[in-house]
Amino acid sequence: MDGLPTLQGLLKQLQRVPYLASKNLYRVANHFLSMTPEQLEQFCRQVREAHERLIKCPRCCAWQEQTGNCQFCSSPKRDHRLICVVETWYDLHTLEKSGGYTGEYHVLGGALSPLDGIGAEDLSIDRLLRRIDGSCNEIILAMNQTPEGEATAALVARALRNKSIKITCLARGVPVGGTLEYMDRLTVCKALLERRDF
Ligand SMILES: [Zn+2]
Repeated sequence: MDGLPTLQGLLKQLQRVPYLASKNLYRVANHFLSMTPEQLEQFCRQVREAHERLIKCPRCCAWQEQTGNCQFCSSPKRDHRLICVVETWYDLHTLEKSGGYTGEYHVLGGALSPLDGIGAEDLSIDRLLRRIDGSCNEIILAMNQTPEGEATAALVARALRNKSIKITCLARGVPVGGTLEYMDRLTVCKALLERRDF
C-alpha cells in the first residue's frame, strides 16, 4: 500500500474495530469505497445519530432514546415482578426476540474478565441492588454459560443474598460454552421456561 496513505489510513481505522476479523479488512474497506456519496452520507449520519441520541436507561442500563422513556421500565405491559439480568444489550435483544419473556431487564455491561481488565466495579451491580424494591420477587440470572458468565452470575447472586428474593437461572438446555447471542428462539424460550433455582 506504499504511496496510498489514504487507503492505509482507512485500513488502520478498520483495524481498530474489535471483532472485525483481519481477513475481512480489505472486503470491508472495499465496501466503503464502493458506496455512492449518498450511501456514505447516510451511513455516517446513522452512526453519528446513534452515538448522540442513545443513552443508557438510568434504571436498567438498556439503550433508550434520549428524548423518550425506557421501553422496558416504563411499559405497563411488562411484568415488573421479574428482572432478568443479562451481560449485554445484545443478549437482551436475543431474549426479547424469542418472545418468551415479558419482565424487566438489567444490563450489567459485560462479564467479569480479569484478562480484559473487567472487574466487579465495571458492572452495574450497585444499580441493580438499588432498583430492587417490594414489587420485584424474582431475579433471573441469564449470563452466558462461559467461565466469565458463570463467575459473574455467582458474583451477582452473592450481592443479592441479603435481599430475600428468589434467584433463578436459565435451564441448561444449551451447550456448555454457549452464548445467548447464538441461541435460536426455541432454545431461549425453553431455557427461560425451565429455569431453575440458582
Ligand atoms: Zn430501563
